[in-house]
Amino acid sequence: KDEQHPLHILFFPFLAPGHLIPIADMAALFAARGVRCTILTTPVNATVIRSAVDRANDSFRGNNGGQAIDLAVVPFPDVGLPPGSESGTALSSQDDRDKFFLALVRLREPFDRFLSEHHADAVVVDSFFKWGVDAAAEHGVPRLGFLGTSVFARSCTNSMLCNNPLEASPDDPDAIVTLPGLPHRVELRRSQMMDPKKRPDHWELLKGINAADQRSFGELFNSFHELEPDYVEHYRTTLGRRAWLVGPVALANKDAAARGTSELSPDADGYLRWLDAKPDGSVVYVSFGTLSSFSSAEMRELARGLDLSGKNFVWVINGADANASEWMPEGFAEVISPRGERGLTIQGWAPQMLILNHPAVGGFVTHCGWNSTLEAVTAGVPMVTWPRYADQFYNEKLITEVIKVGVGVGSMDFASKLENRRVVIGGEVVAGAIGTVMSAGEEGEAIRKKATKLGVKARGALEKGGSSYDDVGRLMDELMARRSSVNVRQ
Ligand code: UDP
Repeated sequence: KDEQHPLHILFFPFLAPGHLIPIADMAALFAARGVRCTILTTPVNATVIRSAVDRANDSFRGNNGGQAIDLAVVPFPDVGLPPGSESGTALSSQDDRDKFFLALVRLREPFDRFLSEHHADAVVVDSFFKWGVDAAAEHGVPRLGFLGTSVFARSCTNSMLCNNPLEASPDDPDAIVTLPGLPHRVELRRSQMMDPKKRPDHWELLKGINAADQRSFGELFNSFHELEPDYVEHYRTTLGRRAWLVGPVALANKDAAARGTSELSPDADGYLRWLDAKPDGSVVYVSFGTLSSFSSAEMRELARGLDLSGKNFVWVINGADANASEWMPEGFAEVISPRGERGLTIQGWAPQMLILNHPAVGGFVTHCGWNSTLEAVTAGVPMVTWPRYADQFYNEKLITEVIKVGVGVGSMDFASKLENRRVVIGGEVVAGAIGTVMSAGEEGEAIRKKATKLGVKARGALEKGGSSYDDVGRLMDELMARRSSVNVRQ
């Protein structure tokens, strides 16, 4: 009888938009295939995904065997943080960060309660909840890891953790470090990598996450096989890890792709109209995700670069960087809307999926956050890479050296984010890289062609019979088989 009940997956994403958004999309993807999905989160974080979830439910609930996605909203633990600090992105002091981590620990309680009261066939609990693996095991529910990055980046991290290649390299920020044991020769500058001597806490955190994922039922990836086949093979066969690639999740359903446009980005229609007036492929979109902030000097050079590039641009400016009087170069105000027509700046939430898929957009200056990277790949838009920290330097390598759909600005500063000595990238360099991916020329043409081809493959992956469609099916079969064998044993 049990077999007739749909599978039920509980998702507990980390409290930050870069984690919540792909989880909401992933839930939509499983729900469309008949899996009941519940997303557990706190009130402020629920607002980031509520409308995407509502739209997903409207579009396929009861339709072709689709299931509902439930949002289970639990209070944010009272740890003495000011209101509105419910996201890992909103914390400015170490004291607040410590409190936030305490809240993460306390969130085990509502998770446990949910699993005591409801049956789940699997939990996708974020690796930043350190208790996730143990809690799932105690409830006898398979745990799936999801770090929201590429198989390539996870392979690089694994190589780094197992070999610690920094130890044998000279203590010089420019020293070249090779990551051993990977399908390609992957080299980074020492300054682009996390140094375990300088950040023992981060190193231990990464080790813990890696170990947790190895102790889990397997790992989910927002990626698709055709994007990084050598690394999928490496991860599964050489490292022996169980991985299902189910992306690009942003394509889970069309309405969800708008991601709550009207609530999060009330002026979205205006931005799209602005783009409508521009020729195809003439606009560079510039955004650094939800976490990066720039110094005034960097903002000035970036503005100069956009101006020098001669291209139209849409530039998303983070709240922390919005004080234009501190950085705006002379004459820049004349270039941007409402006075000028070449550029549009967006302060606040940009409807990124809609912008990247607009025909006017021909390039993307990105920090290489994995969601943004995959969204650009899916839209067939070539990239100018400007990583800042974490997995972003690995993603840049994948973009520029493995799949070859972008060029870098030469960002070198993983460590300096912590040490506050970032090298400012000059406007000329930014303009040059934009020119390479968007203007006539052999290199740019090859990049654009490759980007278009990959975009087609990305969209095919989730169609019936596509690689990600099949991986979702395989995972569902395994969970169903596991349910049957547990029932037989009982
Ligand atoms: N995003 C968006 N509008 C914004 C900023 C971000 O839609 O103004 C979305 C973006 O499309 C992506 C996510 O937020 O899905 C950011 O994730 P990513 O991994 O690129 O970067 P992070 O913010 O985690 O560094």
